Amino acid sequence: MSELKQTRPKGTQDFVPPDSERRRQAEATFRHLAETYGYREIITPTFEHTAVFVKSSGETSDIVTKEMYSFKDRAERDLTLRPEGTPGVVRAVLENQARMPCRLYYVGPYFRYSRPQKGRYREFGQVGVEALGEASPLTDAEVIFLGDAFFRSLGIHDCTTQVNSIGCRECRPGHRDALRNYLLERKEQLCGDCRLRIDRNPLRVFDCKVEACRQAVEGAPTPRQHLCEACKRHFEQVLADLTQRSLPYEVNDRLVRGLDYYNRTTFEYISASLGAQDSLGGGGRYDYLVEEFGGPDTPAIGFALGLDRALLAAPPAAGPARRHLAFVVWLTESELGETEKLAAKLRADGIPAQVDYDARRVKAQFKSADAAQAACCIIIGPDELAKGVYSLKDLVSGEQHEVPFDAITAAVRKRFRD
Ligand code: AMP
Repeated sequence: MSELKQTRPKGTQDFVPPDSERRRQAEATFRHLAETYGYREIITPTFEHTAVFVKSSGETSDIVTKEMYSFKDRAERDLTLRPEGTPGVVRAVLENQARMPCRLYYVGPYFRYSRPQKGRYREFGQVGVEALGEASPLTDAEVIFLGDAFFRSLGIHDCTTQVNSIGCRECRPGHRDALRNYLLERKEQLCGDCRLRIDRNPLRVFDCKVEACRQAVEGAPTPRQHLCEACKRHFEQVLADLTQRSLPYEVNDRLVRGLDYYNRTTFEYISASLGAQDSLGGGGRYDYLVEEFGGPDTPAIGFALGLDRALLAAPPAAGPARRHLAFVVWLTESELGETEKLAAKLRADGIPAQVDYDARRVKAQFKSADAAQAACCIIIGPDELAKGVYSLKDLVSGEQHEVPFDAITAAVRKRFRD
């Protein structure tokens, strides 16, 4: 047994209040937004059979070749902590025979073994949607619009939307051949990984971060130059609908996305304030994936948005310095029974209430109330009980006044509003 480590594993994060609450709030914003577009939540396991990811993300993708947390369980099964959402969703939809068309959203932790830095972690949060069984370019535009709406509702205003089309089964082979020939002529300039990609999956060269490779693909044939008529029309309709929705976008010919399952529309949200890890999220169409999993021909499109980067790009929450929490303070042990009763009544009325049962002295109870950042204290002593009142102390202004028993809920609510 190795010695107990006092620090969290590299690339992971702790979220202590109020950061945990800010994160939950962002998730709630996403859930609400997705539901207003008809999406319903799907919850899938945090780990899947490794083949689920290898098959869908592609054997040559960075995720599969370098970044998966794969392990064998005690029965020698090959399992992987999910590095992304779509493959598990598609597997679950087929396994559970979901009715089509079907709009699903998800929220949860994802895992990739990559070099940690600002905005890049080994465990990170993603929220996403998948619209399965929808082929219209108007769905593409609506999905792109929804992702942008999420960032805007978090107060992120420097987000730009990039879009591209990488074609379909008809037109991709033509582009692949042209790109392969172009890259073969420049093989000497490419990094070792990209040389292998020429044969295996030349499109991946567009993703390479190595400067020489970036330069080499400057004048490379782009997928858009090779689109068939149907793909061209689809893309034009996506762009027209984005314009109709007043969503500004940039067409980026290099945007091929790092996963093999995409076709036609690809898109990404970029934030200028994030530095090197500037992608807030992205997605695309994956019209062949369901079929590749053994299901029926099912067009589909989705996105995954990074929660960590969204929260880095969003303005810090200017929440109230005090929480909506009433701290009930007792003077002597004879009031403990009444204290518990009052706390129960407040909770039943929907007001969060807390009691410090340990502190024997009032001063210590006030300290606890302060540590909990309660907005007010309700004091119960023998005098109060004799008079039929509580003393309500505002912990921001320090003001204190008496409130009749039956008016306490209203008085605390008013305090929270002020
Ligand atoms: P991808 O499908 O790889 O483009 O991921 C979608 C989004 O998830 C990215 O735009 C990031 O916001 C987020 N993301 C991906 N990998 C990480 C990571 N290692 N750490 C934090 N966020 C990530």
